[in-house]
Amino acid sequence: MKRDTLLTHAGRNPHANHGIVNPPVYHASTVLYRDLASYEAAMKKREYGKTYYGLMGTPTTFSLEEAVAKLEGAFRCRAVGSGLAAITAPLMGCLKAGDHLLMLDSVYAPTRRFCDGMLKRFGVETTYYDPLIGADIATLFRPNTRVLFLEAPGSHTFEMQDIPAMAAAARKAGITTMMDNTWASPYYFRPLEHGVDISIQAATKYFCGHSDVIMGTISCNEQSVEAVEAGVRDLGFFASPDDCYLVLRGMRTMAVRLPRHWESGLKLARWLQQQPEVDRVYHPALPEDPGYAIWKRDFSGATGLFSVGFKAIPHAAFAALVDGMKLFGMGASWGGFESLILPAYPAGVRTATKWNAPGPLLRIHAGLEDSEDQIADFDAGFQRLRAAMRSAAE
Ligand SMILES: *Cc1c(COP(=O)(O)O)cnc(C)c1O
Repeated sequence: MKRDTLLTHAGRNPHANHGIVNPPVYHASTVLYRDLASYEAAMKKREYGKTYYGLMGTPTTFSLEEAVAKLEGAFRCRAVGSGLAAITAPLMGCLKAGDHLLMLDSVYAPTRRFCDGMLKRFGVETTYYDPLIGADIATLFRPNTRVLFLEAPGSHTFEMQDIPAMAAAARKAGITTMMDNTWASPYYFRPLEHGVDISIQAATKYFCGHSDVIMGTISCNEQSVEAVEAGVRDLGFFASPDDCYLVLRGMRTMAVRLPRHWESGLKLARWLQQQPEVDRVYHPALPEDPGYAIWKRDFSGATGLFSVGFKAIPHAAFAALVDGMKLFGMGASWGGFESLILPAYPAGVRTATKWNAPGPLLRIHAGLEDSEDQIADFDAGFQRLRAAMRSAAE
C-alpha cells in the first residue's frame, strides 16, 4: 500500500466491529480472566496486541499503534502520553549509569533539560554536538557511548542533519540511534528506512492536527523493541484511549493537510525573504537554505513550520509586529489547523555551537487559512514594525 492508502486504511477492521468504519474507544483499567489457567498463561507470556490491563493498552491503542507502525515502516509503535514522554521513555530504556549520550545542540529544549537534569542525576553523561557535524560524529564516539540522538530539522533553527551518514556511523559502532522526526512526520521522512533505530513523533502536532491532544509515538525496529517496551512499561507511560481515537482520526486526513501546510509555509517564507528588515528565513525547503541539498535528497516533502530571523531591530519594533497579529496566535506547539508564531531565543541554550544572528527570531507555523490572508496579516505586521522604527528614530 502507498502512504496515502495506508493513512486511510491502516489500523481499521470495520467488520470486526459491526461494520462501523472507525474502531471503538475501549476504556479500561481492569481486564478479567475466565479462570486460573488463562490468567497464568497470560502472565507467563505477554504478547503485544493482547489486553492484560488498561495500562498496557486496549484495542483502541493498538489500532493507532498499528497505523503509525505501518506508516513508519516500523516493527512496532507504542503510544505514550506526550511527545516528551516519547523522547524520555526510549532514552531511559536504553541508558544506564556510566553511559554516554550524544545529543544535537539544536534539540527541542525540554529534551536538553531532561539530559542536564534527570539523566545527569542517574549518572549518564551527555555531550552536545554541532547538528551539522555529519559523518564526523564518529570522532565523538567513546567506548561507553550508547545512544546518538538526532532531530532534523533542528528545533527553532532548522539545521538539516545527514541522517543516513550519522546512522550508519552509529550502527558500525554498535550505538543506538533515535530521531525526533516531528517536523517532517513519517509522511515525508521515514527514519527507519534511513538506518535510524527509533523514530519519535510528537503526535500532538501533525498526527493530531487539531490542537486538542497531547501524545507521543515511539516506533522502532526489532533490535530496539525490548528497550522501548522496558522504558514505556517501567515508567508507567500511557496514552488515553480517547486521545488515541482523536489522533487516529487526525491521521486519516494528513495526506491532504500536510501538502497545504507545506505550500502556504513556503509562500509565506518567500514573501518574508523580500522584506528589508529580514536577515534570513530558516526553511530547509528553500533552495537558498544550507540544508536544502540534504532535504531534497532525503525528505519527500516539507511541512508548515519554519523561522524568520530579523536584522538588528529595536525590541519595541519586534513587539509591534508580534502584538497586532490577527490570524497568527502566539503560543507553544504547532501542527494544528491554525497559524501560530512563537519568539525563539536560541543564543541562551546552546553549548556546542554559537548562535550569532543579528536580531530576534520568530518561529512560524503556517496553518490552513487562505495563504493570501496569512501574508496580509504579516504585511500589516511589517507596517506596524516600520511605524515603530520611524517613531523610535524621531
Ligand atoms: C512539541 C515537540 C515535542 C514534544 O511534544 P509534547 O507532546 O508537547 O510533549 C517534541 N519534539 C518536538 C520537535 C516538538 O516540537
